Amino acid sequence: MSTGNRSCGSCTACCDGWVQMVIGDNPVHPGSPCPHSTGKGCAIYSDRPVDPCVNFHCGWVIKDSPLPGWMQPQTSGCIVLFNKLSWNNIPVDLAMPVGVKIPQRSLTWLKAFSEQHGRPLIFTEQIMQKGKYTNQQKVLGHGTVEFQQNLLQWLKEGRKLW
Ligand code: SF4
Ligand code: SF4
Repeated sequence: MSTGNRSCGSCTACCDGWVQMVIGDNPVHPGSPCPHSTGKGCAIYSDRPVDPCVNFHCGWVIKDSPLPGWMQPQTSGCIVLFNKLSWNNIPVDLAMPVGVKIPQRSLTWLKAFSEQHGRPLIFTEQIMQKGKYTNQQKVLGHGTVEFQQNLLQWLKEGRKLW
């Protein structure tokens, strides 16, 4: 993928299981990359599914991304999706790790961005069992107390957030 100012380069993080999705009949999750990922790109790029692939808007690649260069997913250890949901008419951003957890430097940047712009942040961590990925994620939030309480309630209700 590329936009006016950025392209994926050697990053294939979104195709390698760090974004949970289903491609054809294949569930893609940590430890189970998309079968079309070559490790360098997409083997069916021109025929890739519209949903989720064409409609996927990686926060680092989007035009005029506020993410600095070093936040490229391969180096930052996280994938950011802006405006993934809305809370009280405020955009909420989502960040997921490329690995078990978002590295501290990246998380600190994301939390500061969230505070500066008044945009709640939801971020995830992979749940491991016996050293292996389980396909389950812990969901955490950063924002006002009210937002955190709402998020906890949504999680308790098992509400689908995105
Ligand atoms: S995570 Fe972003 S930068 Fe990396 S391959 Fe996907 S779209 Fe490109
Ligand atoms: S079909 Fe291609 S673009 Fe879509 S997840 Fe698989 S490798 Fe990535």
